[in-house]
Amino acid sequence: MIKLSRMFREIVLRREGVARVKRGYLWITKKWVKTVPEDLEKGDVVRFVGEDGNFIAVGYVNPESYIVGRVYAYSNRDFDTELVESYFRKALDYRKKLPIASSAYRVFFSESDGLPGLIVDRYNDGLVFQVLTYGVERRKDLIIDVMERVFSPSFIIERRDAPGRQLEGLEVGDPIIHKGRLEDDLIIIEENGLSFYVDVLKGHKTGHYLDQRENRRIVSEFARDRKVLDVFCNTGGFGVYCAKNGAFSVTSIDISDRVLDIAKKNATLNGVEDRIDFIKGNAFDELRRLYKKGERYDMVILDPPSFVKSSKVVDSALRGYFDINLFAIKLLRRGGILVTASCSYHFTLDLFMDVLEKALYSADRRGRIIDIRFQAMDHPVLPSMPETLYLKLVIMEVY
Ligand code: SAH
Repeated sequence: MIKLSRMFREIVLRREGVARVKRGYLWITKKWVKTVPEDLEKGDVVRFVGEDGNFIAVGYVNPESYIVGRVYAYSNRDFDTELVESYFRKALDYRKKLPIASSAYRVFFSESDGLPGLIVDRYNDGLVFQVLTYGVERRKDLIIDVMERVFSPSFIIERRDAPGRQLEGLEVGDPIIHKGRLEDDLIIIEENGLSFYVDVLKGHKTGHYLDQRENRRIVSEFARDRKVLDVFCNTGGFGVYCAKNGAFSVTSIDISDRVLDIAKKNATLNGVEDRIDFIKGNAFDELRRLYKKGERYDMVILDPPSFVKSSKVVDSALRGYFDINLFAIKLLRRGGILVTASCSYHFTLDLFMDVLEKALYSADRRGRIIDIRFQAMDHPVLPSMPETLYLKLVIMEVY
């Protein structure tokens, strides 16, 4: 019998909560909790036990959040240096075995690497991280120490603008450079033989959409000799890959000047600036405008931001997805390829299929799906936590 230390206070879980946690679900919502000690503070470590008093897991809490607790281990251990170091090393070992041909990848993906609330991305020999919960925030200094030891990074940057921070009551603000100095605003990464400027301080997420890395490569394999429209292009990703892989021409659209400036630099950096032109505009309007103008394409790529931030707004988001997919389909010549993505967990693959079916019907066209892809392997998925699978990308031939 292992004798468990009594140092942590206990949260008693109802039966359903016990069952979910035992199956590997790491979030404890209020409805699964029977009793909570009164004086718990945000970020405290607790033991989760069943109504019979049996130990289930350890986690940290935020009594003010709907997700009152998050599990980080199934044995009775503290959230300390030793734990973080062993998790980092495991995460790094996992990445070393993956076929990632890039100097930038996600080294630590929160729940999927065992510790909810922490994301760490590697850009060359530097690290950019995001803290999403109080439990992690309170131990930030020790986490930075462990980063030093495990990765010996040349810089450590903390981004504090992740959308999840607000829900936890964490301050949203400017990035903090904990270590090192950036020579330039932009750094250059190598990805699948291409080069990209990345704005690690102010770019979206931690600077680059790492999760689409393999999808950019696969999609570009279909682009040879095609006239490509890359909508929601951000810093140029899909479009630059396609131009590099022999696309006849690429038109890239985004609403933000800031990302378009970097996208243009990325086109030049890869020697394809003469084959890409850029449009600054709202995708919803631009797709209509191009359609009315009579422009037609052999490939349209849609990689929108998450329209469904919560389960409450699925309906309006569905209209958004329907609208852009409808116009993308209308813009395609027969035999053209629609590449369409969603990074919202709430927009499930079933809903996605439904939207595509309806859009094809409304456009009086037929489609045939070539491939359905997900987020890159450095963003692994837990079967026990469907929330960890958020990115879907469909490649479909359209007639
Ligand atoms: N495909 C990119 C990532 C796309 S992220 C890559 O591989 O790197 C989504 C992008 O959509 C962001 O750059 C954002 O600026 C842009 N965006 C958001 N709303 C938009 C709109 N209504 N019209 C056009 N672009 C929009």
